[in-house]
Amino acid sequence: MGSQHELPLDTPLLYLKSEEAFAGLTPRERRYAHHLSRASWWGSFIVLCQTSPESPTIFSLLTRLLRSQPIDTLHSVAIDRAGFTENEFKSLIIYYSGLVYNLGNYLGFGDRKFIPSVSRGKLEALIKASKASLEAPDVMERYMEVLGPMYNLEESKRFLGLPPNGITMYFTPNCTQEDADVAKEYMAAHNIEAWNTRLLKYEEDGETVYDIRLASIESGPSEGITVDSDVFQGHRMRVSRGDYSYFLKKMVSELHHAREFTANDMEVQMLDKYVECFTTGSIQAHKDGSTFWVKNKSPAVETYMGFIEVYRDPVNQRAEFESFVAVVNREQSRKFDTLVDRAEKEFLPLLPWGSDFEEDVFMRPDFSSLDILTFGSSGLPIGINIPNYKDVKEEQGFKNVSLTNVMAARTGIKGGPFLSEADHALREKHGALGLEIQVGLHELLGHGCGKFLRRKDDGTLNFDPEKVRNPFTGDKAGFYEKGENYNSRFTNLASAYEECRAETVALYLGLVDEILDVFSVGAEEREDLKYVCWLDMMYAGLRGLEMYQPTQGKWGQAHSQARYVILRVALEAGQGLVSVTETTGDDGLPDLLLTLDKAKIHSVGREAMGEFLRKLQVYRSMGDAEGGRAMFEKYSEVPSDGPHPFHRWHEIVLRKRRPRMILAMPNTRLAGDDVELLPYPEAVDCVAKSWVERFNPEEFEQIESALSAFVSGWMK
Ligand code: ZN
Repeated sequence: MGSQHELPLDTPLLYLKSEEAFAGLTPRERRYAHHLSRASWWGSFIVLCQTSPESPTIFSLLTRLLRSQPIDTLHSVAIDRAGFTENEFKSLIIYYSGLVYNLGNYLGFGDRKFIPSVSRGKLEALIKASKASLEAPDVMERYMEVLGPMYNLEESKRFLGLPPNGITMYFTPNCTQEDADVAKEYMAAHNIEAWNTRLLKYEEDGETVYDIRLASIESGPSEGITVDSDVFQGHRMRVSRGDYSYFLKKMVSELHHAREFTANDMEVQMLDKYVECFTTGSIQAHKDGSTFWVKNKSPAVETYMGFIEVYRDPVNQRAEFESFVAVVNREQSRKFDTLVDRAEKEFLPLLPWGSDFEEDVFMRPDFSSLDILTFGSSGLPIGINIPNYKDVKEEQGFKNVSLTNVMAARTGIKGGPFLSEADHALREKHGALGLEIQVGLHELLGHGCGKFLRRKDDGTLNFDPEKVRNPFTGDKAGFYEKGENYNSRFTNLASAYEECRAETVALYLGLVDEILDVFSVGAEEREDLKYVCWLDMMYAGLRGLEMYQPTQGKWGQAHSQARYVILRVALEAGQGLVSVTETTGDDGLPDLLLTLDKAKIHSVGREAMGEFLRKLQVYRSMGDAEGGRAMFEKYSEVPSDGPHPFHRWHEIVLRKRRPRMILAMPNTRLAGDDVELLPYPEAVDCVAKSWVERFNPEEFEQIESALSAFVSGWMK
C-alpha cells in the first residue's frame, strides 16, 4: 500500500446531497431534471472511452462483479475463498469507486493512473469464485484479459500524455507530435474546431490517412461536416464521424423526453441544438445551443452537455465529454436574496470604513449558487465558468456558477489533523451551515462591497477630493486614473488580495447576530456557529500551506494564500486568540495543534480583523498598490524561525494531507408523474451501490456490448 498509483484506504467516500434543493422543485422541474440526468449518465460512458484503452473493459468487468450479487455476499467470497483481508476488500471497493467517479483508471485531478491495492492473483481468484463467473463464465473470462493492462505500471502508462511517454485516447497510439501538428494546421485552414474529435492515423491503399473523427450518432457522409478525401501539404486527410454513436443515441432519446418538461422556449431551442450536435457532429449546432444556454438566465434546473474541457488532450484541443444537471436551492437562494436586499441599509454600514469608501448603490455581484444532482465527467469542480467557445463568450457572455453542495460535501469529512476532537465534533455539527454563511457573505457582500475612487470618463472624479482623505496619512486620497483599474495596479497580487478581502468581510460580518438570523441560526447555536466559522478559516489557513511552493517561495493558489494571510493576522493579534504549536503525533513524528479561544473572538479577533479589513479596503479604494502590497506580502511570508516557523511546518502539512474525496451521486426514478431521489448515504460502498443501481440488468448488457464494440474498433 501507499504507492502514489493506489487510492489510500482512508479516501473519504461521501454522498453529494441535493435533497433540499430537489424537494424545492416543482414536479415538472423534477421531471426535466430526471431526464437530463439520465441523458448525462448515458453520456458519461464516453468519458470512459476517452480515458484509456482498458477503462471500458475494467468498468464492464467490475460492474458485473458487483451487480451480480450483493456486496456483502461478494465480501464473504473474497474473505473465505479468495484470501482477501478486510482492508483488501475495502481497497477494491475504493478502486471501483475511483474508477466510476473519475470515469476511467486515471485521476481526473492530476491524470495519474491508479491500480487496485489488492494483488492481481487475489482479484482473479475472487472473480473466478464470484456469482458473475458462475452466471457468465465466458464473458468474465474474456473481460479478465484486461487485468494485465489494469495493473500495468510501466513508465509509459503512468500518466496521460502523447505516446511514447503517456497514454491518450485522443490520438491513435501511432500518432506523434508532428501528426498532431498536421491535423491542427489542416483544421485551422478549414475552420474545423477539434472539440468533439479524435485523430486516427491508418494505412489505406498503400497511403497514410489522417482521419479526424467526430462524435455523432450518424456515421455517413454529410455535406459541410465530413470530407471523404483531401490532400493537405502532401498528406491524405479525411473528416469522418460516428464516434460514441450508441451512447449519444441514448442521450438524445432522453433529451426528447426532457423537452416535454422545459420551462421556456429557450430551453426547447437549446435542447434541439444539443440534439442536432449529437446527431450530426456539428459544433456550430453546439455553439448555437450554448447561446440559448447563456441567455437562459437563472433557470431552476441547469444543464450543460457536450465536449467541453480540453485539459486532457495532450495538445489541449480536443475536449472531454461532460454533462451535468444542477438545481437551484430555493431555500438557500431566499436567504441570499434577503442578504442582498438588506445589504445597503443594514449590513454594509457595519463594515469598518466610512461611507467615503463605499458605493452609493450596492450592485449585486454576478453569482449564482446551484446544487449538483448529476455530473458525468472525470471529477467534480466547485465552480464552473462556461461556455469555453471564445466567440460565444465574447458575443453572448457566459455563466459563472458556484456548485455549493460540492463545496459543502467536504464538511462531511470526519476528523483530520491539527485540531482537538472537541473542535472536530463542533465542525461536524455546524460546518455545513457555517460554510453556507461564509460563502453567501464572501460572494455577495465580500466581492460586492467597497468603492473604487476614480476619474470618470467625463474627466471628473467620483468623489470629493477636498473631503475624502487618506485615513492613514491625512493626505489627499489617491485614485484610479482613466484607463486604470484594480487589476492593472495590483497585477499579480490582485486575485489573492481580493479573495482575502472577501473572506475577511465574511469573517467580520459573520459575527453579526442579525445576519445569522437571515440564515435561521437559533439563538442558542449562534456562538458555536461563529466559533466554527472562525475556526474553519484558521484551519484552512494552516492547511492551505500545502499550496505554498517553498523552493520558489510562491503561492500556487489565491484562496489558500488569502486564508494563510488571515491566519497570520490573527496570530499577530496575539493575546491568546489563536495558537499553533508543534506537538508530537502518535506516530512519534512532529505534528501541529491549532486552537482558537472562543472568548476572544468578539474582542481581540473582531478588532484585529476590522483593522486589517479597513487597510485592505482603503488601499484598494485608492489604488494604493504599494501600500497594499507591502502589507499583504508581509503577511504572506512563510517564516523559517520565530514562534511560528511555517516554512518548517510546511513539510508536516504536506505529510498530513488528506486524500481527495470521492462522491456518490443520487439516482432519480419516475414515480407516477413525479420523480423520486434515491440517496446513497455515506458508507464505504455508497459510490459502488449508486452505480450498480444506475441502470437495470438489460441496460447494463447493452452498455457492455457498446463498450466492447468501442474497444475492438477504436483504432479504425
Ligand atoms: Zn471569491
